[in-house]
Amino acid sequence: MNIILLGPPGAGKGTQAQRLVDKFGIVQLSTGDMLRAAAASGSDIGQRAKAVMEAGQLMPDDVMIKIISDRIDEPDCAKGFILDGFPRTVPQAEALDSLLADKGLPLDHVIELAVEDDALVARITGRAAEEAAAGNARADDNAETLKKRLAVYHEQTAPILPYYRDKAVLKSVDGMADIEAVAAQIDALVQGG
Ligand code: AMP
Repeated sequence: MNIILLGPPGAGKGTQAQRLVDKFGIVQLSTGDMLRAAAASGSDIGQRAKAVMEAGQLMPDDVMIKIISDRIDEPDCAKGFILDGFPRTVPQAEALDSLLADKGLPLDHVIELAVEDDALVARITGRAAEEAAAGNARADDNAETLKKRLAVYHEQTAPILPYYRDKAVLKSVDGMADIEAVAAQIDALVQGG
């Protein structure tokens, strides 16, 4: 089972992806986590990603498409995967369609977590404070970067929604509900086929 979780930064994609991992034994492919690991390793791509993430901008489509295409080829993806943070632009969505077709893989569910901007600001500033208190602040989670990330989301990522809606594969859940209620909505979609 191959799933895309869509939604703005802080919508809860990572939390819900992790739950689907535990429930269905499929892997979570978080491009943000991959880029943060690359940044920590200090590789060339990592250094570039660090600067891009701190600015709240997006990495180039060709870099991200190659990363995700290579990752999907790894054996642990054979049972299925959840894309969390990819695609993030219409060209990434188009490239994903063609690379899945080339690999003979289906796209089973495209699920949007719908959350309003005001709720996200409250949620992300809260998360940043918690993570900072725990000693592992995400450098891209400060309020200033969040505004930039939301603007980039509306400009570059939100157009993915009509892209999938036109293909009649998009399903939306109310991401404002609490974690368990969102999880129940996602389960109903996934198990309903
Ligand atoms: P995330 O953890 O998904 O919010 O991603 C953190 C940051 O990594 C984003 O703000 C972008 O700078 C970068 N990033 C993650 N995924 C992508 C992607 N698919 N395309 C471009 N940039 C990305």
